[in-house]
Amino acid sequence: MTTKQHLLELDQADPLAPLRDEFALPEGVIYLDGNSLGARPHAALARATQMIEEEWGQGLIRSWNTAQWSTLSTRLGDKLAGLIGAGKGEVAITDTTTVNLFKILAAALRVQADRAPKRKVILSELHNFPADLYVIEGLADLLQQGYELRLIERPEDLPGQLNDEVALTLLTHVNYKTGHMYDMAATTALVHDHGALALWDLAHSAGAVPVDLKAANADYAIGCTYKYLNGGPGSPAFVWVKPALCDQAWQPLSGWWGHARQFAMEPHYEPASGITRYLCGTQPLVSLGMVECGLDIYAKTDMQALRRKSLALTDLFIDLVETRCGHFPLTLVTPRAHAERGSHVSFEHPHGYAVMQALIARGVIGDYREPQIMRFGFTPLYTSFSDVGEAVEVLFDILDNETWRDARFQTRHSVT
Ligand SMILES: *Cc1c(COP(=O)(O)O)cnc(C)c1O
Repeated sequence: MTTKQHLLELDQADPLAPLRDEFALPEGVIYLDGNSLGARPHAALARATQMIEEEWGQGLIRSWNTAQWSTLSTRLGDKLAGLIGAGKGEVAITDTTTVNLFKILAAALRVQADRAPKRKVILSELHNFPADLYVIEGLADLLQQGYELRLIERPEDLPGQLNDEVALTLLTHVNYKTGHMYDMAATTALVHDHGALALWDLAHSAGAVPVDLKAANADYAIGCTYKYLNGGPGSPAFVWVKPALCDQAWQPLSGWWGHARQFAMEPHYEPASGITRYLCGTQPLVSLGMVECGLDIYAKTDMQALRRKSLALTDLFIDLVETRCGHFPLTLVTPRAHAERGSHVSFEHPHGYAVMQALIARGVIGDYREPQIMRFGFTPLYTSFSDVGEAVEVLFDILDNETWRDARFQTRHSVT
């Protein structure tokens, strides 16, 4: 039996515990949704004020130079690079994950069209985040070149579906619903053995689990900064391309920010070399600036230490839910094997939506994904072992008293 005292001792022994002070978390809330929208770094408020009052208000247009706005995307990209095993100058923070995906997919297909024009299949996953699939469909429709989206139902089905028709795989490293994590290096090697290119979506990986794109020999990667990286609501996303591939194709949203000589104002497009070509137009500077506050917190620790705590938190949560709430109809959908688990844990419950609403009403904030999945994100930067214990006690209480049956927990909000 895990006592409160034991959890307090774990918190006292936790070398990462002081990092919680970097975040402005409301009183009375146990926040288990940092995988969807990260918490606010304290520093973000001062940084926003500085950007708005000084850089915008006083500096005005001069700030493009004096506050180095013009290079912010790639300077922040350099800060993020170490978290995903990328090199300096290889990452840009710009646009949204969905838009970056469009650019990358188009460029990757262009590269393959030169190498192996008969390969027309883009292989992804039925249970991938829907936007990833929608972008493939949209691009295939636009190109009218016979590209086809093919979906595997489970990760185990991948080897059987790789063949000489496949141009590209788009896999999400940590699945947004189940929390399943691929072995990136082994999977990429398999994809390459079959002549395809490997594009990884790191939306639920960056800042959550150690990622080493170079060691894995990955080809392309994209991901969000507003999830584990705590960049703020709708903060710009990141994009990485293996240097050897980067200059082999244009990305199709060829704007002036990606031009080789932006201010030459030439009538024809010539892509910049390197990741700069993945910029399109003027960035949302204030939103972009917030990303730095989240990244600076990562500089105070490292992904190995975060991973150790993340696994300890998710292990504890699974164990406590199963011992305290095991007699309720809860089914773990997240892999138990550490090597296959990201930093969130999902349980299925026939009334998952209502149970989650009841949890949120009690200050335990997770979220819900169809079908029947309650999702709990564990951000080692600010989640304590005591938080996990308290969250499970609230869950037990809601299930035991069936408070989730209350009518107010049945109404679907537009964002679940
Ligand atoms: C969160 C998430 C996205 C979100 O894309 P946006 O363009 O930021 O809306 C895309 N893909 C995956 C796998 C995600 O988890």
